[in-house]
Amino acid sequence: MKFDCIVKNGTLVSRGDSFKADVGITDHRISAIGKDLGGKGVKDVYDASGCFVTPGFIDSHTHMNLPLANTVSSDDFFTGGRAGVWGGVTTIIDFTTPEPNQAPAEAIKERRKEAGISPIDFSFHGTLYGYNNLDRGDLNEAIEMGVTSFKFFTAYGESNRRTPDGELVEALGEIGKLGGLAMVHCENDEIIAKKREELKSGGKKSIKYHPISRPDYSESEAVGKVVHLAGAAGGNLHLAHLTTKESIEILERSKGAGIDLSGETCPQYLLLTEARYEEENGHRYAATPPLRKDKDREALWKGLANGVLESVATDHCPFRNDQKDEFADDFLNVPQGLPGVETLGSILFSEGVGKGRLSIERMVELISENPARRFGLYPNKGSLTVGTDADITVFDPDKSKSLNPDNLHMNTDFNPFTGKTSRGWPRFVFLRGKPVLEGDNFVGRKGGGSWIRRKKRNK
Ligand SMILES: [Zn+2]
Repeated sequence: MKFDCIVKNGTLVSRGDSFKADVGITDHRISAIGKDLGGKGVKDVYDASGCFVTPGFIDSHTHMNLPLANTVSSDDFFTGGRAGVWGGVTTIIDFTTPEPNQAPAEAIKERRKEAGISPIDFSFHGTLYGYNNLDRGDLNEAIEMGVTSFKFFTAYGESNRRTPDGELVEALGEIGKLGGLAMVHCENDEIIAKKREELKSGGKKSIKYHPISRPDYSESEAVGKVVHLAGAAGGNLHLAHLTTKESIEILERSKGAGIDLSGETCPQYLLLTEARYEEENGHRYAATPPLRKDKDREALWKGLANGVLESVATDHCPFRNDQKDEFADDFLNVPQGLPGVETLGSILFSEGVGKGRLSIERMVELISENPARRFGLYPNKGSLTVGTDADITVFDPDKSKSLNPDNLHMNTDFNPFTGKTSRGWPRFVFLRGKPVLEGDNFVGRKGGGSWIRRKKRNK
């Protein structure tokens, strides 16, 4: 067999297993996996000794170039995708940003133009604000285009992004029938609206009131309801960014009941607590749902280890300090979101594998195989299998880096993990057989990523 390049002497981690082997790459695809691969005419050999060789990481929840709160998230598809490369991410699933009443297919076409500069592969979840003006044909058109998951919010009524329950249950049923997946941001809007109004009229606008305005039960109530509705409607449901112990308990109980259900959490909810909102620049940690308590963090780690949660994604939605500082004393209006695409793998390795909470095999399931399976990318993404895209992260468990923003590449001067050092970073990253990271050097290119059509459920 003739190889364009070989990744040699690493420990492969794929499909729940790990073993020593080389990977041969021919024409953008994995062409062989085995011992002592070689032969004449191999152009490049990449030394992976001491490293884990994993399928490229997938961040299945990012917000590049997202208009929000009269500003725009500070990474575009190029800077954000490139930062992802430094962290071993080779595919992102971002979101469409439709105008009110814009058909999903139109929103997909527009967002694809914005994302064309991405240096890594990309897809979108189709964002829907309500379900009144859509018909089966519109959804089907999006699914046929390869956008097979749709995002709904049960919160954000104040910015007209909420889908009321009656519309949501119809959408869940319809999407299920079409072989799509509904992804829902679950928070009880009425509880939050009342809390926000009370705090506002009492002049309590400091960020320390942010978690009080969105209590843990406002999340778990909505999780319970939406899971129930998905069960009743026969829908396939993915729960975005879960943050509370009670949400995990509901997920655990409901998964046994035959509902097609999955859940994700994010590094910020695994590492940080609401104590950050008491700090001097606490507003810079603004995110929804808010950071929670230690008991929640512990439940989330447990859920990742025991299989109740399927995936970790970042909800990457960075802002610079100046964008947030304008609202330093106004949690009601501060742009909500945190950076994360670059630190996903390293944090999960350092805090998860390094601290004995997760095995390396489980880590790879959580940030590559499971999101690939759940969102219709598998096995071309999310596995090291002969014949699939050679998206490969060569992950060096001994490489350490400080998580201070000046040491990272996301387009923001804020990082929620500043002061920490994480162990475990990529040595090489390949996107469809071509290196995009060599050591600390980005060697990919603007526009080097491809739009990925995703498959339907059960196909
Ligand atoms: Zn999000």
